[in-house]
Amino acid sequence: MNKDTENIVTNDISSELSCPACRYKTAHPADSNLGAIRGNTERFSNTQFRLWKCPQCQTIISIDPVDFHDIYSDYPLNKRKLDIFAQGTFGNLLSRLRRAGLQKTDTILDYGCGNGIFVDYMKQHGYLNIVGYDPYVPEFSPLPTSQTPFDCIINNDTLEHCDDIHGMLQESLKLLKVGGLLYLGTADSEPVDMANLEPEIMRLHQPFHRVIITEQGLHNLVAEYKVDLLQSYRRSYHDTLRPFSNYRFLDELNKAVGHNLDRAMDPTEVNRVFIRKPRLWFFALFGYLFPSAFEPAVIVRKRPPL
Ligand SMILES: [Zn+2]
Repeated sequence: MNKDTENIVTNDISSELSCPACRYKTAHPADSNLGAIRGNTERFSNTQFRLWKCPQCQTIISIDPVDFHDIYSDYPLNKRKLDIFAQGTFGNLLSRLRRAGLQKTDTILDYGCGNGIFVDYMKQHGYLNIVGYDPYVPEFSPLPTSQTPFDCIINNDTLEHCDDIHGMLQESLKLLKVGGLLYLGTADSEPVDMANLEPEIMRLHQPFHRVIITEQGLHNLVAEYKVDLLQSYRRSYHDTLRPFSNYRFLDELNKAVGHNLDRAMDPTEVNRVFIRKPRLWFFALFGYLFPSAFEPAVIVRKRPPL
């Protein structure tokens, strides 16, 4: 074992733990609420990260602080392409937004847009007034304010990447028009057994996922603000009946390459595992019927001030 793999993980919690969702605090967390898991990217595959599950709301929190600019400097998901898989899942996301009333003329902000492939997708589908923001991607930083306030803000797979989820939500609402739509979709922390985290390595996605809440936690979070709940989803927006566009397939593909996202995104590696593991074809086609995790989402409308 080399030095990098020799990370010593202890349950010694030197300072008070605080839940960013429900604000529960403790200096003496129960051992049963503590765990550790390696990262699921090449860079962090030999590093263990400590996690704590809030006993009050079941939110899972990545305990040790990170340098966000550093961890996102070579983030593999920022190399995603707008391929057939992405087209399928983004189609599902756009359908949700349309159902809530999104119009092609609306001004839209994709908050936490990564490399901007959803912005590109939306432009290809006639939503031309969309801009992206991602503080860790130079092309999409700083925050575009020329169109504020926006008709619609999309926070998809963003909440779980923030330490301060209330702060992020407050900032989004500040940038949103009264009557505007806010989409919030995130990873799910239930059911996760803290004593057996390896099967959950994809959704835990350390050290990038900082705060992973439950579906109820998401509802509780938005209930604290002046918004009306329009739609609620339990299934991931990745989950469609289109071949290759489902969460279970992604999970199985990642498992087949040793839960290393860099490898899962390498076409040569993917072709190799498809030949070696025929069960991947089954999940590519029928994975929708066998979800391995959910990804709750809500669409809310901002209320006028009283
Ligand atoms: Zn909590």
